[in-house]
Amino acid sequence: MLQGKVMLVTGASRGIGRATALLAAENHAQVIVNYNNSEAAADEVLDLIAAKGSNAIKVKADVSREDEVKRMFKEIKSEFGRLDILVNNAGIMRNNLLMMTRIDELHGMYEINCKGTFLCSQMAAKMMMKQNSGRIINLSSIVGTHGSHGQTAYSASKSFIVGFTRSAAKELGRYNIAVNAIAPGLIATDLTKDLAEEVRTELISNVALGRIGTPEDVAKVVLFLASPLGDYVSGQVIGVDGCQIM
Ligand code: NAP
Repeated sequence: MLQGKVMLVTGASRGIGRATALLAAENHAQVIVNYNNSEAAADEVLDLIAAKGSNAIKVKADVSREDEVKRMFKEIKSEFGRLDILVNNAGIMRNNLLMMTRIDELHGMYEINCKGTFLCSQMAAKMMMKQNSGRIINLSSIVGTHGSHGQTAYSASKSFIVGFTRSAAKELGRYNIAVNAIAPGLIATDLTKDLAEEVRTELISNVALGRIGTPEDVAKVVLFLASPLGDYVSGQVIGVDGCQIM
């Protein structure tokens, strides 16, 4: 479904990003696997992609750092000469009650979840505007659309993604660039592995489909939005949460 397309997935070393990179490669995209700390995990993603007979490169960059994002896009330009799909997936989560949240925790999430998405989108849009085509897919969260007890700072960083997505879709539509967000519910990754068992059980009991989501559940919706199936979808926030009641 992605034959001839070049796709950058930020934070593709683990979790949802990893599943997205693998599914895109299976669908014949040329994938750029961005990572920051987990080089061995990124190498494993490259090996799995190579085993599928597809082409991928890894690029280390901290998405919150403008110099590193610029360098990453320079590398993409020289390697592929174009970028068709950007998946702004890299993100961190720190949970705390409003009254317990330190300002440095708020800043940490803002830097990666918000500024990282903003910087990568700016750089990608520059290339996509020249091409007069492109797709940008951003990872929000059900807590960014509905709020969540004990997650004021994280959910605010994910609400940022909603406003950003809707506005960027309006600005970039004239260049044939579609911008959408995905709002996953509870997905089984490193991000959620340390949840207390009773919290996990309670959350899953509120999911109509009765199970936790997998990274592949989210990757399939990214694939839909990135492929011709999603040609006329833009400015949307698509829930992938098994009908989770918040
Ligand atoms: P994860 O398993 O913890 O993986 C996070 C990924 O982000 C890793 O590959 C990590 O790379 C990368 N990353 C973190 N900081 C980075 C930085 N500064 N620069 C570049 N890459 C960075 O998380 P996940 O669960 O897959 O989450 C992916 C996205 O989905 C996040 O935006 C998250 O907010 C969102 N989401 C997740 C859930 C869930 O339940 N899991 C629900 C809703 C939304 P390195 O290890 O290489 O540093």
